[in-house]
Amino acid sequence: MPNLIGFRCSLCGVEYAPDQLTYVCPKHGDSGNLDVVLDHTAINRAASPASISASRDFSLWRYLPLLPVADPGAEGTPLRAAGWTPFYRADRLATDLGLHASRIFVKDDGRNPTASFKDRASAVVVARAREIKAEVVAAASTGNAGAALAGMAAAVDQRAVIFAPQTAPPAKVAQLLMFGAKVLLVNGNYDQAFDLCLQASREFGWYCRNTGYNPFTTEGKKTAAFEICEQLTLTRNPKPQTPNPKWAVPDRIFVSVGDGNIISGIHKGLKDLLALGWIDKLPKLMGVQAEGSAACANAWAVGTEDIVPVSANTLADSISVDLPRDGVRAVRAVRETGGAYLVVSDDEILDAMRALARRAAVFAEPAGATSYAGLAKAAREGIIDPDETVVVVVTGSGLKDVKSAMRAAGEAVRIEPTLEAVRLVIGTG
Ligand SMILES: [Zn+2]
Repeated sequence: MPNLIGFRCSLCGVEYAPDQLTYVCPKHGDSGNLDVVLDHTAINRAASPASISASRDFSLWRYLPLLPVADPGAEGTPLRAAGWTPFYRADRLATDLGLHASRIFVKDDGRNPTASFKDRASAVVVARAREIKAEVVAAASTGNAGAALAGMAAAVDQRAVIFAPQTAPPAKVAQLLMFGAKVLLVNGNYDQAFDLCLQASREFGWYCRNTGYNPFTTEGKKTAAFEICEQLTLTRNPKPQTPNPKWAVPDRIFVSVGDGNIISGIHKGLKDLLALGWIDKLPKLMGVQAEGSAACANAWAVGTEDIVPVSANTLADSISVDLPRDGVRAVRAVRETGGAYLVVSDDEILDAMRALARRAAVFAEPAGATSYAGLAKAAREGIIDPDETVVVVVTGSGLKDVKSAMRAAGEAVRIEPTLEAVRLVIGTG
């Protein structure tokens, strides 16, 4: 790829040529996550905020000049439909929280082809798999990353093997099976599925998509940062007479954090835009974790990058992680942008699911609503200024986990099929 210079270890800073390795820095074993190094001069020759904003490609592939992969083809398939998710104003939520109406936005990534943020990573990894002619792509997943890989693989007839904990919600397992992936439900937790997927990929020569291991996942996820800046610009100036030379930046972005790869991906995208001169500053990244799975928040709170594993326990299955595999970069994303980590309870997550659905019409799974629970907490505690522009990233659809949605929503009223019964219930009898 012309724009791909190489990889840089996030721990020791050593750089590697593109064909030198595939996954992690050899000096650090599986924890040496690599940042993709791009040729910003070449990108600026090929594209600009104005040229991107003129694109009629309403998917993450509008940012192809900023990605380290070749055009994957596959026009007209779901692979080409990942990204460019809705960017909603959430005025009523803003008012509820005592914040400035019209400055709170929800980025609804539940609207991706397989209904989660993970389609971004899987689309780019599958593009990479086609480039290197990988026969099989494998991934460990709490459900969403696997469903995304299975879906993107099905779009282009790529073979996929998914390892998921047997506790994954049934809707996510159903997606894996429906897309035709080889599904292996592991009698263990996500961390055990992760390690098994690594071992099996080495043993059988599969291309491993594991999050916090394959450097291309971050490159897919960074496209959310591009969209946030471009879409925020559009809300301020929908039909510019002259194209915007730069993109707008919110004051803060709230992101749910499990293994840390989404927040580090968003951070990477913002750093790319800043290096290109397409934005003027970095927003504060606000990491939100469930209190039962808060390894990154714990490390941030004591000012270290040493991530101590926890024994994860939260209803937000997508962010239920003992050892965040991209923890160092996730802590750094918050520290380097002057943001903060917040920790929320499962009850606060259920409250956030209800609020998002009833006050912004966004149906989020528990992990997807965790970011909003963090914003609610930050507003309550006076951590943010009421005039700030804030984006909340919702990472997955509520249809992914109907059982948790029913916990948040409560039971429906059951009645006899008579008008009298309706009168009794609505109180006009
Ligand atoms: Zn290293």
